[in-house]
Amino acid sequence: AGFAVAGDQIVVATDTNFKPFSYRNEDGNYVGYDVDIWNEIGKRIGVEYELRPMDFNGIIPGIQSGNIDVAVAAMSITSKREEVIDFSYPYYKAGITIMVRADEDGVKELGDLSGKVIATKQGTSTVPFLKENTEAGKVAPKEVKEFPNITDAFLELRAGGADAVMFDLPPLQDYAATVGKDAVKLVGPLYLGHFYGIGMPKGSELRKKINVALLEMQESGKLNELHNKWFGSDS
Ligand code: GLN
Repeated sequence: AGFAVAGDQIVVATDTNFKPFSYRNEDGNYVGYDVDIWNEIGKRIGVEYELRPMDFNGIIPGIQSGNIDVAVAAMSITSKREEVIDFSYPYYKAGITIMVRADEDGVKELGDLSGKVIATKQGTSTVPFLKENTEAGKVAPKEVKEFPNITDAFLELRAGGADAVMFDLPPLQDYAATVGKDAVKLVGPLYLGHFYGIGMPKGSELRKKINVALLEMQESGKLNELHNKWFGSDS
């Protein structure tokens, strides 16, 4: 009862483009760590679902309005979000960092982004992070450009329309490895260390089942196996 779609089929949102958690491969299929984690949870709890890739910006409002039953979207568990949606136990530890063009020598950390144009992704935790740090006087960016899709922020950096991209570490690492060290580099420490969790509407009856499945996957080594598949290392 209370699910977005009649019958047993629930709506599971994922990000359209957050490598290597969820992205479209050459065959046009959505794959990644989040997709695999959800497929495994879905099997274990026995629900039918529709996987719905979306721009991240629409995901939290979609959970709040009840149009989305579950979101597996590299979603950071934050105090503000915890007030409006429910989260599963954390399943990944991440953080945000800075990417610049390879020939950029003046940027080593957040404060060096003063006077610079920063590109990031709309609706993500980097946006309030930059706002709060600007208000606190730790950085004074010339402009923060927000894109619905992080790929557009990468292109903006390469084209010179931005001096830096600030965003979650995994997609930045993936992009840097793809385009090579002559093109871009990651600089600075890991800011805003946060955990990813699976999001659900407040009071969702799926939360307990999802948590049990996640914990079983952790205990059995399944989660570690999937981590190895996507990151090439133990979790
Ligand atoms: N982890 C970031 C956040 O939750 C980015 C999520 C994403 O782009 N899918 O805001």
